[in-house]
This record gives sequence, C-alpha cells and structure tokens, in this order.
Amino acid sequence: MNQEVLNGLIRPKNVAIIGASVTPGKIGHTVVLNLIKGGYTGGIYPVNPESEEILGKKVYKSVKDIPGPVDAAILTIPAKFVSPVVDECGQKGVKGLIVITSGFSEVGRRDLEEEMVEKAHKYGMCVLGPNIVGTLSNADKFNGSFAPFLPLPGKSSMVTQSGALLIAIDAASFTRRVGFEKLISIGNMCDVDFADLITWLNNDPATYCISLYVEGFKNGRAFIEAGKKASKPIIALKSGVSAHGAAAAASHTGSLAGAAKIYKAAFQQAGVIQASDLNDLFNRTQVLSLQPPMKGEKMLILTNGGGVGVLATDAAEKYGIPLMFAPEDVQAELKKHMPEYGSAKNPVDMTGMAGNEWYKETVQFSFAHPWVDGLCVLYCETAMTNPQGIAESIKAGIDATGIKDKPVTVSFVGGERSDKAMQWLVEQGIPAYGAPDIAVNALACLREYERIKEIASEPEYQCKEADKSLALEVIAKARKDGRDALTEIEAKQVFAAYNLPVTKITLAKTEDDAVTYAEKIGYPIVMKIVSPDILHKSDAGGVKVNIKDETGVREAWKTILENVRAFKPTADIHGIAIQEMAPWGTEVILGSVNDSSFGPTVMFGLGGIFVEVLKDVTFRVTPVSRGQARRMLTEIRGAPILKGVRGESPRDQEALIDTVCNFSNMILDLKDEISESDANPVLVYEQGKGLKVADARIILKKK
Ligand code: ADP
Ligand code: MG
Repeated sequence: MNQEVLNGLIRPKNVAIIGASVTPGKIGHTVVLNLIKGGYTGGIYPVNPESEEILGKKVYKSVKDIPGPVDAAILTIPAKFVSPVVDECGQKGVKGLIVITSGFSEVGRRDLEEEMVEKAHKYGMCVLGPNIVGTLSNADKFNGSFAPFLPLPGKSSMVTQSGALLIAIDAASFTRRVGFEKLISIGNMCDVDFADLITWLNNDPATYCISLYVEGFKNGRAFIEAGKKASKPIIALKSGVSAHGAAAAASHTGSLAGAAKIYKAAFQQAGVIQASDLNDLFNRTQVLSLQPPMKGEKMLILTNGGGVGVLATDAAEKYGIPLMFAPEDVQAELKKHMPEYGSAKNPVDMTGMAGNEWYKETVQFSFAHPWVDGLCVLYCETAMTNPQGIAESIKAGIDATGIKDKPVTVSFVGGERSDKAMQWLVEQGIPAYGAPDIAVNALACLREYERIKEIASEPEYQCKEADKSLALEVIAKARKDGRDALTEIEAKQVFAAYNLPVTKITLAKTEDDAVTYAEKIGYPIVMKIVSPDILHKSDAGGVKVNIKDETGVREAWKTILENVRAFKPTADIHGIAIQEMAPWGTEVILGSVNDSSFGPTVMFGLGGIFVEVLKDVTFRVTPVSRGQARRMLTEIRGAPILKGVRGESPRDQEALIDTVCNFSNMILDLKDEISESDANPVLVYEQGKGLKVADARIILKKK
C-alpha cells in the first residue's frame, strides 16, 4: 500500500465529514463534535446537501464544493449511498476514506465493499474500514471517530478489529494509566489491513510500540512480513482461540478466525509478542512502550518483603525467566544494605527495615551491575515507610546509573498511597504494577521481545536442491488417474525428491515379485497395502511388520489381501509395497495444512498414539528457519522424550531439525499442488544416527 496515501488518511491536514448531521446523537453529528472538542486544528468540513451549518461550521453540499484540498473523508452515510460519494471524493483528490458506516461484508454485502475499494483504487485512494469507530491521534489532536474523547496520551498506538473495544480502551486508558498515541479502528479490513498499519506506525515518530487486537487476518503472510520488518515492539491479543470463540469471532466480523496454534506460531515468526488476555495486553503494552528489551536471562529481584519475593520467584519460572542466585561479589555488596537476617541471594530481601536510603543504594548498585540483565523492584507498604519516598528513591537509584538500555519494572503492594506512588512512577517512565507476578511478567515480556526478534531475523534455511520436476511428474500421474490422494509409494517419491529420508520401497504386483523384492531389500521387511482407497492402512489390516523370510512374505501377502478385501470390497488395489523395516526409534509426526489466512503451514509433534490422544503438536507458517524448527522441538509437552528420558540417549535432534526444514520447503514449493500431507511416523534415532520416514501421505488440492 502507498504509505503516502495512508499518511493522508491517518494524519489528515483537513477532513470532510460526509453525512454530517445537525441532530445531536447521530454519528454524523458526533464526529464533527469530537473533532472540534478534541482540539483538531486542521480544516473540518461537514458535508450534507440539506444543512447550512453544524456546530458553527459551514456545511458543504458536496465534497467537491469544499475550497482547498481534502486529505481524508469520514463517511457516515448509509452503505447504499456510498458508491457515488467515492467518485466525488476521488474527483476531489481525497487520499483516504474512513468508512465508519456498517452494512457491508459483516452482513453479507461483500459486493458493496468490493465495489467501493475498486472505485477508490481507481482514484488512488485507500479505504479504512468499513464498519469502524474511526481513528484518533493525540499528536494531531485528531478525534475522527465517535469515541467521546482522545485517550490518555502515551507512546503506544493501537489497531483494533473491534470498535466497541476501542471505545472501552479509550476510556480505560485513564484509569489504567496506559497511554496511547493513536487508536485506529480497522473493522472489515476491505483495503487497509494490519500489515499496512504496522508498516505505517513503524515509521510514525510519535509511536514507540504497536498494540493490536486481532480477530482474524485476511492476509496472514503480509502480516508476518510487516512484523518482521518492524523495528518497534508489537504486541497482539488474538481473540477467538477457543472453538466457541472462533465461531463467535467469525459471525462478528465476517472473517474466519484461524486456529490458535497457527496464530501463536505466526506471531512468533512475525516477531510479535502475544498477550494472553486483555489485562495482559494493557500491562505488556505499558512495559513495551516504556522500557528497552531485556538482553540476557538474569533478573534480579529486590524486595522488602519475603512473601512478595517468593511470589515473584514463582512467576519468574512460570514466565520463562527462572531466577539464578546472584554471584558472591554481588551478594557481598548487597549485604551492606540489609540487616543480618536479610538475604542477598536473589530474590534480594532487604527486609521490612528497608527505607529510602537502602532502596536507592541497592537499586543503583544492582541496576549498574553487569551481571543483572533486568531489575524487578518490589515493595510492600509498611508502617515505617512512605510509598512516595520509596518510589522516588527507586527512580533516583535508576537515574544515578545513567543506564538506558536495561529494563526495570516495579510492583508496590499496598493501598491508596502505593497506587499514587505507582502512578507517579509510570509518569516517570517506570512501569509499576499492583502485583509482583505482573512486574515479573512485564520483564519476561521484554525478554521475550528480545528473543523473538532474534528468531524472526534468522536467515532462512538453505535446503539441499530439490527435484521439483520429479515431484510434479509423480503428482501429474496421479491426477491423470483421476486421484487426489497419492499412494504411500508416490508420496515417498515426492518426499525423497525433497531430500527427506524415506524407507526403501517397491511395489509388488504378485506374490512372487514380493519375495524377489524382499530379498533384494533384505530381511526383515515391512509389507503394506497400496490402494488409493485406503488411507489408513493399519485400520484395514493392511500392514505387516518385521517379516523375516520367504514364508513370512507369502503368508503376509495372503493375509493383507484378505483383510483389505473384507474391510473394503470395492477398494482399487495397486499391489503391496515391500519396504525396508526401519529399526525402532522415537515416533514423531510431521504434517501440513493449508490455512486460509497463512497458506501452507507445518505441524510437528510426537507420533503414534501420542498425537491422537494428547494432540501435543505445534505449528509454523512455512518457510521454517532452523531456529524455528528447533523451537518447535522444544515447545511440545513431550520435548523431554527427544532429549532422552529414563536412561535413553538423546535423539538426533539436528537431523530432525533439518527434516522439519526440508519438509517445510516441500510444502511451500508444492503449495499449488498439496492440500495436506503427513509423515507419520518418522522414526528418530539416537544422536548422529538420523531418522527414517516410515509412512507418507499426500492429499492433492482439487483442480
Ligand atoms: P497407517 O496407514 O496405518 O498409518 P503406517 O505405514 O504408518 O500405516 O504403518 C503402521 C505402523 O507400522 C507405523 O506406525 C509404524 O509403527 C510401523 N511401520 C510402518 N512402516 C514401517 C517401516 N518401514 N519400518 C518400521 N516400522 C514401520
Ligand atoms: Mg502412518
């Protein structure tokens, strides 16, 4: 999207309100009122053929009658009247349309939306919405919305897919002391989408952090690209992650919300922090807009109360930055600022004796010490101390170090005086929260931001050259037969073309052939039915493993055919696959699905019965870097199994990482052909011994 045009939409120098109304309470009236009340200094031009004056502003019959240029037009007229107005705006040279009006795709009228966008593009205009509250900007004192006032000023800008939530967050910004520079309602996203706004906000000098409320993306890949390129922290709250929630979101916005696991992966790949709920969104938005990333793992907790110290310690483990004991020299220095019975280990407990002095000196020493990557300062209100004094001491300690590239968070537990002191701290740029676990969560978020940025900027995996034409040949042959499922043999040919280590496999059409091939491959062997009508071969009694000799082959031949014919008499049987028997190994699964928002995605998990029962799987949007593949291996619950449990040696994780990357490469390269695929099981051996794909399945896209 043309960022210059978008600039006209978000930071207009003058604005027309089309559908402006003299009637208080109508949206067309409210928007004019809000622009005036907000203090917007640009041109405010109400448009309505039937009025002369609204709130002291001259009303124009048409946007074309307005003298001088118009950057943005806010549309509040009914959907059915929008089309001719788009022409007029285009002819006037308007840059962007802010379409507040509803009654488009959210009620099934996608056609109206498409017509509007097509027309707008003809004139080089962009469209925000429709079905939105509008946009608000503190920097420009621009309230082009029907939300009653500008939010508490702050460094974060928020884009939200829910208009109601925008209005609520606008009001909540004051009580929660989380300020916003801009609030942008994105609505149906018929044109301007999340990716466009991320790119724009990343270049906005008034925005330091980008905050998103997401129901679903239309173009997930554009979002990932925009996120990766952004240099400012981005935090997203995705709703509709439960099965029921997804349905609610779908009927709400008309865009289908995707699966929770895929969104989680996409956020990580985009370098975007995910908020777990609305509270978390506020808390993390605050810390991300006020503090730098945490560059290392080591957090030091300072406290005057043992209880909150322990709560913070628990939270540290929960949020992925477990505490370490401070080194001896650090402890020795800290000991100077506490009584005998205090603890300098970490959490550092200065005890209830700690007053302003100790707080200042300990904060100053700890924050400056190179061992400390992030500082979390806790305080329990006591009878002896004054919260404001402690707050000022903390600030003084931090300031004395002159350090700007290390984060600090604070939690005061107490009453009104503590709340006031925390408010003061936030105004000084130090995030402060009413509970110790939230202060730790905030630091964990800064740590996560650093890590996630590293991963998102990783180079792509360099795959060994694949034989795409061979893969396409195999696929074309199956299509010619009128099939959209490949047999295991065909699927393994495609896999092999992408350097995936499949078992040796040959199709036998007769019992005698079976014996010949078995001898060629070498016993023990595995025999499996080959039929496009049987996708789950074991269910049909179509798999025999560990066949050791000719008698075994002949027996298996008969049994498999009998079983399959009984299971499905009409099955088209190509023959029986004779394949190398892979030695026992840890069973994992690789799979792929084509997601409606993100395109081809890769799944990894523990195989065998684990996958069905535990659903212990994780996803990534393709392509997958080595770093991401490694994260996939570690983030499943069964991860310890790959590291080796109960005396078993660790599995060959490096080989598995390569295989995940090659698999991802295959899925992406063949995205126009493959709709779904899996390798289940893949048998993973001990370190250095690699792995084997024992079973392969590919379902083609319908053409
Ligand atoms: P299904 O179509 O039922 O998934 P599979 O090909 O996965 O059939 O075979 C079922 C099971 O047989 C696998 O889960 C695996 O344990 C075992 N198996 C299949 N092929 C091999 C092989 N080549 N070497 C060793 N074990 C195998
Ligand atoms: Mg299988």
